[in-house]
Amino acid sequence: MGRCPRGRPGSAARARTRLYPLEVSTVLFQPERLRLARDVEKVSQTALAGAIGVTPAAISQFESGETNPSEDKVAAMADALDVPTSFLYLPMVDMHEGFFRSLRKSTVVERRWARSMAHLVHDLATQPGGASDLAPLDLPLSRVETFDPDAEQVVEAARLVRRSWNVPAGPIDDVVALLEEHGILVVRMPMGSADVDAFSLPFGERPVVVLSNNKSDRGRSRFDAAHELGHLVMHGTSVWGVKEVEAQAHRFAAEFLMPEADIRHELPSTADWARLFELKQRWHVSLAALLMRAKTLGVMSPSAYTTAMKGISARGWRRVEPIPLGAPEGPRRTTALLDVARKDADWFPRALLPALEGLTVE
Ligand SMILES: [Zn+2]
Repeated sequence: MGRCPRGRPGSAARARTRLYPLEVSTVLFQPERLRLARDVEKVSQTALAGAIGVTPAAISQFESGETNPSEDKVAAMADALDVPTSFLYLPMVDMHEGFFRSLRKSTVVERRWARSMAHLVHDLATQPGGASDLAPLDLPLSRVETFDPDAEQVVEAARLVRRSWNVPAGPIDDVVALLEEHGILVVRMPMGSADVDAFSLPFGERPVVVLSNNKSDRGRSRFDAAHELGHLVMHGTSVWGVKEVEAQAHRFAAEFLMPEADIRHELPSTADWARLFELKQRWHVSLAALLMRAKTLGVMSPSAYTTAMKGISARGWRRVEPIPLGAPEGPRRTTALLDVARKDADWFPRALLPALEGLTVE
């Protein structure tokens, strides 16, 4: 379990800024857009400075808003970064770094690239016409006021979402489809070199959940999606960056995918593999998640759990579990945003279209 990186203080207040159709002549250079453009193009401050003939300190001051670049400089930077000049004037809904899991080995550049692509997907969706194929946002919020991962509030939050979305008892058919039906943007992208499984950006009007596309494990990916949903429901822009919120998101995901009331009587008290294989097929979650659930709910003793996990390791199931569940669930609705990027968004960097196409499922 990794940690979530901290964003800049005060960014939550700016998250209320709305995008609007732009007229370049009447809007201001947006310092945060410059950083986003560098992130998405993977260009360092030093490289950009060299390309336009200023010092790296000058770029840093442009990005912090300390100094305002001339129109010529903005045009030169846009050219160097291969983005339309209008991109650097597009009002920005600022957001913290995002809820990243498993950050330890991630490279900052790859992580920031993934985050900036998710930001662009949000920007497309909130442009005029961008939301036409998207469901209206229906996200119940249940802010958790404690860092205690075992707080009843966490479990209650998961139950609240199931109730509020009228999810029938038992296994959830398709977690990604469920998120999309309630207006949450879901994309898959390559994150192998960033060593991140999933993250989310809690934009108020259009939150984004990003899932890795190099994971063949449907069960784990469903858990990732439910984990990120937990962040959006419980933490929003108010808290991130501590390991306790990761534990809370895990508890949320476990209750959301495997409600105690529905699964308790189905779980074995020992490593009954035949039974666990059946449950994996029925609930579409990993064996590891089922065993953890059995332990958390007190159905399986800690020592029986330890024995079971040893069995998992001994059989090589930590790396590849038996009973494959098929391909991960695919986002469907974000495909429409491709058309917005191609036709309606003059500010969208056209060079990014192939990368954007890679985030969608036709
Ligand atoms: Zn997390």
